[in-house]
Amino acid sequence: MGKIGFIGLGIMGRPMAKNLIKAGYELVVYDVAAAAADELCGCGAERGGSPADVAAKAGEIIITMLPNSPHVREVTIGANGLIYGVKKGQIVVDMSSISPIVSRELNAVLNEKGVEMIDAPVSGGQEKAEQGTLAIMAGGDAAAFEKARPVLEKMGATVTLVGGSGAGQTTKLVNQIIVGINISAVAEGMALAKKAGVDPRKVFEAIRRGLAGSQCLEDKAPRMFEARYNPGFRINLHIKDLWNVLETSRALNCSVPLSSQVIEMMIALANDGCESMDHGALGRYYEKLNNVSLKEN
Ligand code: NAD
Repeated sequence: MGKIGFIGLGIMGRPMAKNLIKAGYELVVYDVAAAAADELCGCGAERGGSPADVAAKAGEIIITMLPNSPHVREVTIGANGLIYGVKKGQIVVDMSSISPIVSRELNAVLNEKGVEMIDAPVSGGQEKAEQGTLAIMAGGDAAAFEKARPVLEKMGATVTLVGGSGAGQTTKLVNQIIVGINISAVAEGMALAKKAGVDPRKVFEAIRRGLAGSQCLEDKAPRMFEARYNPGFRINLHIKDLWNVLETSRALNCSVPLSSQVIEMMIALANDGCESMDHGALGRYYEKLNNVSLKEN
């Protein structure tokens, strides 16, 4: 299959690319921050000079793991973008979390060159990226997806094709809506317990096996009780994802009142210096709102 192209070697991209090298694949890599590629080049990856150069040197698969829609657009169709180096039959697998609208737009542009784009965002942070146990949710052409699947399986524990182009990004937005609202609900409930003079930890123990139980409750309530807000998943990334929710929902005329509320809370937290904290810091928002502390003594 030739070398795998890999563009975007940040917190997530670096360990994901390393897992591909460990699995025996050869890589050609590029990051706008040259230093980000050093570690991979030290592990045997070839350094590409630009996205176009990576596309020209890569075999069938080119992976991108970039911050947001503008970065993926720039790398795909900007100056020296992938579009200027791709060959018919190549598959671009964008694993960044971006707008599904932009994802579909870029797929259409690449299709004109005989190239398919699979959108394949991930759930799970740096740790799961290192372990190769991410949850990967994909959209795009089914035949192209099947060709990319063995590579994706080296980075993820679950790899699911959800539908056509953009369906993976839409799934990621659904994930971020449910997680953001769930954490807010945990914080709101625990703030009420505290105000009422009822021990939030005991409330947690009492309800965790019932219908209110969730992975968010399990992970985030103890963080709130311990004021343990090291990321995890950073507030500023969740704000970015919720902006993509709002943009997408506007385009679909879909009403998302709870997401709109949660992004306001997260923006307020970011303005209060919490932008790099874990999104469990929604607990802090409710602490300020109610002048209580969820932290145990
Ligand atoms: P990051 O900021 O650590 O890494 C992004 C990398 O892209 C950086 O090295 C940056 O230099 C590079 N880059 C930016 N613009 C570029 C360009 N034009 N050309 C080439 N390289 C460019 O971000 P991350 O935490 O690795 O996240 C990547 C994506 O994964 C985001 O969409 C994020 O929402 C998503 N995600 C992150 C996590 C997490 O916990 N960090 C979890 C799930 C999903």
